[in-house]
Amino acid sequence: MRTLEINGTIVKPGKAQWLNVNTYSLTVGAEVAMPAYVINAKADGPVVLFTAGMHGDEINGIETLRQLLQKKVAQHLQRGAVIIIPVVNTISFMYKSRALPDGKDLNRCFPGAKNGSLGARIAYDMMQKILPLIDVGVDFHTGGAQINNYPHLRCKFDEHASVDLAKQFGAPFLVNSEYREKSFRKEAARLGKTILVYEAGESLRLNKLAIKTGLEGCERLLKNLDMLPHDAIEPYETAVLQTTTWLRAKNAGLFRTYKKHGDYVTINEKIAAVTDTYGKEYFAVLSTVNGYIIGVNNSPVVNVGDALLHVGCV
Ligand SMILES: [Zn+2]
Repeated sequence: MRTLEINGTIVKPGKAQWLNVNTYSLTVGAEVAMPAYVINAKADGPVVLFTAGMHGDEINGIETLRQLLQKKVAQHLQRGAVIIIPVVNTISFMYKSRALPDGKDLNRCFPGAKNGSLGARIAYDMMQKILPLIDVGVDFHTGGAQINNYPHLRCKFDEHASVDLAKQFGAPFLVNSEYREKSFRKEAARLGKTILVYEAGESLRLNKLAIKTGLEGCERLLKNLDMLPHDAIEPYETAVLQTTTWLRAKNAGLFRTYKKHGDYVTINEKIAAVTDTYGKEYFAVLSTVNGYIIGVNNSPVVNVGDALLHVGCV
């Protein structure tokens, strides 16, 4: 039987409770915490981490984990432990901002430092207090700026443990993704911990498909790890995408696409258009590859070179 201790709070086997990973002071003297809900089953098993809100404007993951909490996983967990942190970057969430107040991206602050910038301190707390306890995790994100991502998981394909874990979670697409320097996923991997990145939806917008797919993935993963009771688990069809390509605007103007998110497109197929603002010119956007649309720019006013559509190739 093993207990979990986070920031001085002990969660015994068979117990579930909220605790604060840390608290951070605001300029007015108030403190903002990073709450975590820890469910520790009586029987030993894997420790799974679910995190969202690393970027404070990415709401879909926060809502996904809120719904997971509402499903009262704690009452059904039959082995192992689950740590749920719905908002890692609470300060940026308060401001509906991707970045921290000093402009830093928290997901480029890892592994952090005890006495560093605010982002470095939050990263340090995640590295020191959370990662040593877990076996695997899923970090929930959405597209940055006004990019709307079709639900997909990102991991490094040459790491078989990551690919296996991704298939146990299940998402419509699995994308090969190299590590980014100073990211949570990369620094977790250095500690031997597999973190998948789940990308779905658009910042500051709730997206039903993103949330539903994410929630089902959490439950499917816990069932596949025999942490939740289950009958036979139906295999999930995931399209594995080896490479991805951004189709970029060759002309400035107003952008619209004729395709739906997740659609398959073929080389030279007319899939979108950019028109000038005054009804004089029309520029067709042709796909340069065969693949699935996994990202759409929802901001219709584009400059030359702006990202329009993200296409993933099998
Ligand atoms: Zn993000």
